[in-house]
Amino acid sequence: MADRFSKEHRSWVMGRVKGGDTRPEMTVRKAAHRLGYRFRLHRRDLPGKPDLVFPKFRKAIFVHGCFWHSHKGCRRATIPASNAEFWTAKLRRNVERDTLAAATLTEEGWEVLVIWECQTKSEPNVENILRDFLRGTAIQRESEGHAVADIKS
Ligand SMILES: [Zn+2]
Repeated sequence: MADRFSKEHRSWVMGRVKGGDTRPEMTVRKAAHRLGYRFRLHRRDLPGKPDLVFPKFRKAIFVHGCFWHSHKGCRRATIPASNAEFWTAKLRRNVERDTLAAATLTEEGWEVLVIWECQTKSEPNVENILRDFLRGTAIQRESEGHAVADIKS
């Protein structure tokens, strides 16, 4: 059987299979950390189990693989040629789940952001996205062992 997954898709799949954290997720986490934000991971009590949660600001981020979450217009969001029906149905269910999770979170007063795998190629790009999303929120920094609140302009 032909290997239809690109190397990136394969590592994404393997990351998921092993239940591990994926590279795009790690890139986003590192960037958020660099910017001085505190966050929680994979809050199971929240709809869709967001990848990064900023509880104080009621903001949540999903880091989505372009293939698994059918990133619209993205060249990585292709339907495999074999078993096309299976994949179409499976990927559609994923998108429906994502949509429902985001809608529920929004109803509950959360601000939700999706960062796509293809946006995480560039670390400065990820930092800009995070800055825009978290702008104006008080950021917590560790200062000599004390957590201090700080307003970021
Ligand atoms: Zn994409």
